[in-house]
Amino acid sequence: MSAVQRVLAENIAAVRGRMADAARQSGRAPEDVTLVAVTKYVDVDMAQQVAEAGCLHLGESRPQELWRKAELLVSPRPHWHLVGHLQRNKIRRTLPLVEWIHSADSLRVLDALQAEAESAGCRARVLLEVNVARDQAKTGLLPEDLVPLAQRLSSWNALDICGLMAMSGLGSDRDEARREFAQVRQLRDRMQTQCPPEVALKHLSMGMSDDFAMAILEGATLVRVGSALFEGIDT
Ligand SMILES: *Cc1c(COP(=O)(O)O)cnc(C)c1O
Repeated sequence: MSAVQRVLAENIAAVRGRMADAARQSGRAPEDVTLVAVTKYVDVDMAQQVAEAGCLHLGESRPQELWRKAELLVSPRPHWHLVGHLQRNKIRRTLPLVEWIHSADSLRVLDALQAEAESAGCRARVLLEVNVARDQAKTGLLPEDLVPLAQRLSSWNALDICGLMAMSGLGSDRDEARREFAQVRQLRDRMQTQCPPEVALKHLSMGMSDDFAMAILEGATLVRVGSALFEGIDT
């Protein structure tokens, strides 16, 4: 094992350890929370090392970078998650490559995903991105727009809309971040009561390197962790 592989393995183990502690504290089993390793800071070789170290859920925020890595990383083959904004003209190429789209941030993108999934005959799990902190600089649906949307979710019937995604606010400290994550969970719970029976909003994608433990305490089922995995490694 190279020095880099050793540090990477230690970082992954440390993150997984903290994830497991938080899962147990929230009354859940560690395997109920998935680590999505965000590889946007690193090249294909390092992403390959991440996959070989046993992190098979990989996330990218830019579609083009996801396309590039998905083409080159074939063994072990990762489960790809798009975690950043998806422009409509990138949907056709992205949809067949990803298992999860965390960042459906407008009705227009949902409509375009539905149309493309229908015509291509593929499906994706889709999460609705909510701008819970109301950051001007961020995309995402506003909290008050989500509950009214609940009854319409089954009309995007080529998509598996299965939860919400959020980021804590740009300037939020830990306590604020935790409150924001709790708000997302409550919003999901409220939405679920309005959903058609076939729609299950089971997933909450929230928490990054600085706040994933807090997010798990508030119910995250997917955490998106980048920099904490690469600490001490020249990326
Ligand atoms: C970059 C990114 C992450 C990972 O951020 P870190 O703070 O490096 O863990 C998670 N989610 C999204 C949407 C990102 O763009």
